[in-house]
Amino acid sequence: MSNDKQIVTRIAPSPTGYMHVGTARTALFSWLYARGRGGKFLLRIEDTDRARSTPQATQAILDGMAWLGLDYDGDAISQFARAPRHAEVAHEMLAAGNAYKCFATQDEIAAFREQARAEKRSTLYQSPWRDADPDTHPDAPFVIRLKAPHDGETVIDDQVQGRVVIKNNQLDDMICLRSDGTPTYMLAVVVDDYDMGVTHVIRGDDHLTNAARQITVYNAMGWPLPTYAHIPLIHGPDGKKLSKRHGATSVVDYREMGYPAAAMRNYLARLGWSHGDDEFFSDEQARDWFDLSGCGKSPSRFDFKKLDNISGKHIAAMSDKALVAEVQGFLAATGQPMLQPQKSDVMEQAAYCIRGGAKKLGQVIDKARFVLVDRPLDVEEKALKNLDIVSRGILNELTPQLQAVSWDRDTLEGVLNALAAANDLSFGKLAAPLRAALAGRTATPSVFDMMLVLGREETIARLDDVTNMESDT
Ligand code: GLU
Repeated sequence: MSNDKQIVTRIAPSPTGYMHVGTARTALFSWLYARGRGGKFLLRIEDTDRARSTPQATQAILDGMAWLGLDYDGDAISQFARAPRHAEVAHEMLAAGNAYKCFATQDEIAAFREQARAEKRSTLYQSPWRDADPDTHPDAPFVIRLKAPHDGETVIDDQVQGRVVIKNNQLDDMICLRSDGTPTYMLAVVVDDYDMGVTHVIRGDDHLTNAARQITVYNAMGWPLPTYAHIPLIHGPDGKKLSKRHGATSVVDYREMGYPAAAMRNYLARLGWSHGDDEFFSDEQARDWFDLSGCGKSPSRFDFKKLDNISGKHIAAMSDKALVAEVQGFLAATGQPMLQPQKSDVMEQAAYCIRGGAKKLGQVIDKARFVLVDRPLDVEEKALKNLDIVSRGILNELTPQLQAVSWDRDTLEGVLNALAAANDLSFGKLAAPLRAALAGRTATPSVFDMMLVLGREETIARLDDVTNMESDT
């Protein structure tokens, strides 16, 4: 066997009803780390809290992963389904003398703590059953506790936090199996990570102290430790932990706001990780560049302006096809009808002139309105003002000239400039009624782009619609 063990990372979310941006970022880091090294990325749903672990809550996680394109290997693993295996490990530790049955009642534990407080000692529970002779065991309910080391220290050689030392006198003999036979979270995480072959545990630094307790389980079982990387949490612009107060915390809310998934991946990758001064990059670059050594130790701040900025760059850079696919996803996610094939085709042709300056997909759709609407157009009130009788007369002059000219930008520019000159108008004055006729609005792509995308027949038909319009202005 080669020494270069295959990298295996995982994301282990607890179903909370939605996928938090922080969980998405941890998933992204784990995914980038594995995928950039030919490794595996696994998904484990930590669904032991039965009240919260509804199918909808799990689905919310799957939806978040799917939107971000974070594909995982194999099937999602249910932690709850593995409870018998967790119990088996607890009993193995018991048999090996690394764990013990504790018969202490809640009242006894409370009394211990109270006395410890009164005597100003550590309130970490010290069970009298740790060293009890099994012959003295009563026939009563018991929990299985791990025999934690009480002397010395536990060292976490963390890839992000550095060398973290926890004094063992701060570790209690944690419960691994409850008296009803169900495993605790702390045991389940270790057994699952070991069985799944996880080599790198990348997660939020709120789990750093858990790592010290989890290491005692690895040691008790004689299992090799994974490499740990505890990444700082995400804060809001005010430096406080990111919460609803700052804006959306659910990752799919960003889809509904109109950010493309590629932009969200890029932005989330930059939250707590950097590669030189690079702000805008592709998935391939992120995979090639991502490393734990590039992760910072201090919390990163969610910066909505920066997200907009990166998003605009992705909207500008993606292929026409990808842009239309993003638009379709956005429409579906926001409960709007998706584009029919004919409309998505023409949107693809228009892509070059509708993406400029857009930070969100809604703005792209807005600019694309001229191809999405059908004749006769509803003309906005504001645009209608540009279609007075004089302007309509000029447009009426234009239509015959468009019949026979070659349909390219240079020729159209020549025709329109000549028409403006003949009527002693600036080009802008001519463009306003044209925008109104071709798009029914005042803010549109350039009139040349619209004419080129719409084609001769549709352009003339739209002009005819307004020149034949009944009105008294
Ligand atoms: N289920 C934990 C969470 O959602 C993650 C545990 C872990 O990554 O070890 O925070």
